[in-house]
Amino acid sequence: MTAARNVALASGTSVPALGQGTWCMGEEPVRRSEELAALRRGIDLGMSLIDTAEMYGSGASEELVGEAIRGRRDEVFLVSKVLPSNAGARGTVDACHASLRRLGTDRIDLYLLHWRGGVPLAETVEAFEGLVRDGRIGAWGVSNLDVDDLAELPPGAVPETNQVLYNLTRRGPEYDLLPWCRGRSVPVMAYSPLEQGRLLGHSVLESVAEAHAATPLQVALAWVLRHDDVIAIPKASTVAHVEDNHAALGLHLTDEDLQALDAAFPAPTRKLPLEML
Ligand code: NAP
Repeated sequence: MTAARNVALASGTSVPALGQGTWCMGEEPVRRSEELAALRRGIDLGMSLIDTAEMYGSGASEELVGEAIRGRRDEVFLVSKVLPSNAGARGTVDACHASLRRLGTDRIDLYLLHWRGGVPLAETVEAFEGLVRDGRIGAWGVSNLDVDDLAELPPGAVPETNQVLYNLTRRGPEYDLLPWCRGRSVPVMAYSPLEQGRLLGHSVLESVAEAHAATPLQVALAWVLRHDDVIAIPKASTVAHVEDNHAALGLHLTDEDLQALDAAFPAPTRKLPLEML
């Protein structure tokens, strides 16, 4: 079996390098049992960091996750997110309690600000810290914050992670965001690591994949996971896709592979604004 790999969050808490996303899951009753099976298979395989958000399906994803982890809450590292429109002092607490209810648990392990909105960052951080004190969340982090936003966090406030769009076609964070985070021991959590499947059919990915008897998406995932301080949260709604993604942990890209991928998907040579999906 492929060895598990872990990444340390800013506080030192160890989490799986490969987790599971859940955007668009829990929305179609006919797909529910397949999605539950996929999430549970992922937990069995050690992909036990599960990412969800109050936004996803207006709570339907959190409800699905709650059902998937019923009876095995302690095996899972649960991540959810508050919408910027709810991220004020009172709204953050109310949103967290609503997420807890949908998730069927009394604790979210990591609670993120989904993206920056109109509420001052200091107000959201203060609300997060209150939730930590009350035991409702284990820790807090951010998402979709670029370097200038991160620099505006209150002094001494260190997010556990910054969840951002990062994959072969979205390499902007390598220029400044990854180094900024690395300098503060804040791991990046790469969302849409498969570019939502749009990487399929790329000829260079196909030829690298062929040399490893792998699939192009496994190569794309192994590429994101080549850093030891990046967490990847692909979303897969079938057991077969979860198993394929898990196998990417055992795929080691050679220097030659990395050069071929660099030529096809060039690294940034200047600052690019952080992209969002
Ligand atoms: P993604 O993980 O890059 O791609 C998901 C797509 O790839 C789905 O269509 C899935 O199909 C397919 N797929 C997965 N594994 C596959 C495999 N082994 N072979 C073939 N196809 C495969 O995209 P994403 O869902 O946008 O991103 C992942 C997670 O990141 C989200 O679910 C969410 O939790 C998080 N996210 C966060 C933000 C944010 O703003 N913080 C934004 C976007 C996403 P099936 O579903 O059919 O398996």
